[in-house]
Amino acid sequence: MKREIYNEEHELFRASARRFVEERVAPFHAQWEKDGQVSREVWREAGEGGFLCCSVPEEYGGVGGDFRFGAVFTEELARMGTSGPSFHLHSEIVAPYLIHYGTEEQKRKWLPKMVSGEVIAAVAMTEPGAGSDLQNIRTTAIADGDDYVINGQKVFISNGQLADLVVLACKTDPSAGGKGVSLVLVEGDREGFTRGRNLEKAGYKAQDTSELFFNDVRVPKSNLLGVEGRGFKQLMQQLAQERLVIAVRSATSIEAALEWTTTYTKERKAFGQSIADFQNTRFKLAELKTQVQIARVFVDKCIEEVIKGTLAVDTAAMAKYWCSDIENRVIDECLQLHGGYGFMWEYRVARAYADARVQRIYGGTNEIMKELIARQL
Ligand SMILES: Cc1cc2nc3c(=O)[nH]c(=O)nc-3n(C[C@H](O)[C@H](O)[C@H](O)COP(=O)(O)OP(=O)(O)OC[C@H]3O[C@@H](n4cnc5c(N)ncnc54)[C@H](O)[C@@H]3O)c2cc1C
Repeated sequence: MKREIYNEEHELFRASARRFVEERVAPFHAQWEKDGQVSREVWREAGEGGFLCCSVPEEYGGVGGDFRFGAVFTEELARMGTSGPSFHLHSEIVAPYLIHYGTEEQKRKWLPKMVSGEVIAAVAMTEPGAGSDLQNIRTTAIADGDDYVINGQKVFISNGQLADLVVLACKTDPSAGGKGVSLVLVEGDREGFTRGRNLEKAGYKAQDTSELFFNDVRVPKSNLLGVEGRGFKQLMQQLAQERLVIAVRSATSIEAALEWTTTYTKERKAFGQSIADFQNTRFKLAELKTQVQIARVFVDKCIEEVIKGTLAVDTAAMAKYWCSDIENRVIDECLQLHGGYGFMWEYRVARAYADARVQRIYGGTNEIMKELIARQL
């Protein structure tokens, strides 16, 4: 089915994004997997190419594009199976926090450098004792004169090693439950802020994911992002878009995996014929194609809704949960059709299989997504 959400401008952007991913990301990815993180250089290059934070308004150094530009870039990264650079988190998740809740000063200070890739951003919500149950985070930012003093620990933070700026979810009023949560900006070089080890993961091997520690970290009160005590609400408002980004990646990863698998099964021979000629393969590919198509149509509809500002929390949850579930099933079948080669790391389908698993966990687990959907019934 023809996609109708993108216009000529988006397709031109896609052509240059594809070239960028093919030339500046894919060739280095295997090395980054060994390093456990991507280079700073690729962030700068992405910034120079105009691929970061496309929705940032012109007065803050961006181009003021809509969500579709970020979606296109996410699609092109997923199409090549390159999961290392966490550009989408920086551009589609952190930048919108600043755009929506930042003061004029915060926007002027941070957004131009995020657009250029000079500053890499992260968002730190999860703690060792609280992931799904975000209202129970224990990191505190207690007012002291003109400052907040921050103490606590975060875990599983994407861009954790590279981040120059962290949007931190913490309690400014520990006695107020969810209503005591605030978002505070923490610069990477603040005294008392340290990074733990770069965590070894089952997938997303080129992406740095870390523990972060805050030990009497002082930041000025002007680092508060948005309204004190409204942090949980602010997070919930932005999480719908974060979840859609995950669905965009899922929908594209399965398209790519299906393409690789179709090509592979046509070339590979067994019992004197192509694997693709066995009825089992043909039926499997037909089933996968159907799932891929349905995912794409639903995700495109959600993208339309984001642009109109009407994407509901439960619809975004459906997209995230269903597409990431389907991603895992489709890629598992694709791997199976590759036989033993599918299990080899040098095959993109093996990497895609490993990378798919976390899509059901981060951004809110799929169980939490079902909770959000059920609440509206
Ligand atoms: C690679 C990676 C990158 C990440 N990046 C970030 C990041 O950048 N920033 C950040 O803040 N976090 C990040 N996370 C954390 C991620 O969002 C959390 O892992 C996730 O929200 C789940 O929290 P948890 O791990 O504490 O699991 P738990 O909350 O302990 O959940 C364990 C299990 O219990 C289930 N469960 C929990 N509550 C319920 C319920 N009410 N009903 C039914 N089932 C339930 C869950 O679904 C899950 O299956 C990342 C995680 C990974 C693995």
